[in-house]
Amino acid sequence: MASIRFLGAAGTVTGSRFLVRAHGRAILVDAGLFQGQKALRLRNWAPFPVDPRALDAVVLTHAHIDHSGALPLLVRQGFRGPAYCTPATRDLAHLLLPDSGRLQEEEARYANEKGYSKHAPNALPLYGEEDAVASLGRLVPIPYRAQRKLFPGIALNFRRAGHILGSATVELDIAPEGPAPAVRILFSGDLGRYGAPILPDPEAAPAADVLLVECTYGDRTHSAEPPAEALRREVHDAVRRAGALLIPAFAVGRTQEVLFHLRALEAAGSIPALPVFVDSPMAVDATPIYLAHREDHDDEMARLVASGAEPLRPSRLVFARSPEQSRAINRMRGPCIIVSASGMATGGRVLHHLKQRLPEESTTVLLVGYQAAGTRGWSLQNGAASLRIHGEDVPVRARVTSITGFSAHGDKEEVARWLSTLPAPPGRIFCIHGEPPALGATAERLSARGWNARVADDQEEVDLSA
Ligand SMILES: [Zn+2]
Repeated sequence: MASIRFLGAAGTVTGSRFLVRAHGRAILVDAGLFQGQKALRLRNWAPFPVDPRALDAVVLTHAHIDHSGALPLLVRQGFRGPAYCTPATRDLAHLLLPDSGRLQEEEARYANEKGYSKHAPNALPLYGEEDAVASLGRLVPIPYRAQRKLFPGIALNFRRAGHILGSATVELDIAPEGPAPAVRILFSGDLGRYGAPILPDPEAAPAADVLLVECTYGDRTHSAEPPAEALRREVHDAVRRAGALLIPAFAVGRTQEVLFHLRALEAAGSIPALPVFVDSPMAVDATPIYLAHREDHDDEMARLVASGAEPLRPSRLVFARSPEQSRAINRMRGPCIIVSASGMATGGRVLHHLKQRLPEESTTVLLVGYQAAGTRGWSLQNGAASLRIHGEDVPVRARVTSITGFSAHGDKEEVARWLSTLPAPPGRIFCIHGEPPALGATAERLSARGWNARVADDQEEVDLSA
């Protein structure tokens, strides 16, 4: 008999991890960290509900830390099986997991310095960079649509999800077991947008008996204004003000999307060719990975790459890798574009640019991502008159504006569009990966169509053969 247990991203957005048991095997789909509020982050420290040594395999839908960031922890605790993912997810994990280890180490150091840790002065990181590097050896790439038998009676298939490079929906096919019938479990993973640049649209969903569907924006629709148009307007505004357009952006995904739009706008003659600085070592490393994985490109991106157009390279692009290159940007006067991480200004090099340029009236700060409550990005979005950076209060004289049309997640209409590609309603649907209102709204909408959908309960185990 087959069963599934909801170990995270149930009733909440982060900590994606689902335990499937079938044919005597235990497979963990996604190994995510809980992120955000402290009560959630503390869950990362709880003993894993299953002995990691008893797991036979891990399957990752994509490389975001709330889906992959617990892999180093599992490996440190004895997991020795394969961690299946797409080839691009493996490459991005090589950037994101060691970075996550470094952040955990920094956090522990900070806790020790401030003495606020319960274990002060000996706070330990959840895991370190070395643990993360060691876990990379577990990753086993499987291309899209290359159905692979994992164990007798269990097969895996990835399809494009269009969320970030390498992102996939996951099908687990469980063969009949005694009197228990065959079961196909479909995991939506995180679903992307339709019509977004670089990545293809989410691929049509296959028939499934059991579906786990993400609900991040289950109760919202995205802005109708195309992000490229909003970006064009802001670039012209920066030129008029003769100042910097400073864009805090996630290093993986959002930065490449911004670069794509800037190059396309330039090529179309819609904006002048300004100096564009990408100041984030991870963004600098992620960009060639975005270019290299052609299996993840949509038609337009493929055509541009084939024509030699360098779709992620505005004509005056400068990648700043070293601290010296980063500091040199400070001397840049006049209109220019600076794209730097982190996306919510919680850390990273963007802080140096904010510190330098927020006091200048000619600066435009353009927020292109979701800003979680309590972050500096959120404060800026909500009209803060000053911002605390590196122990200093920095006055905000810059113009601050947001583009809401960028998102890596489909909204409720786009998820509905993906669901409409299912050849038939699945026998059972579990709503996962969302805040309670979004989860409830999705379950209600599906139930109203006569589909058997409900919100998954945290920690519950469901017998899929029953
Ligand atoms: Zn994601």
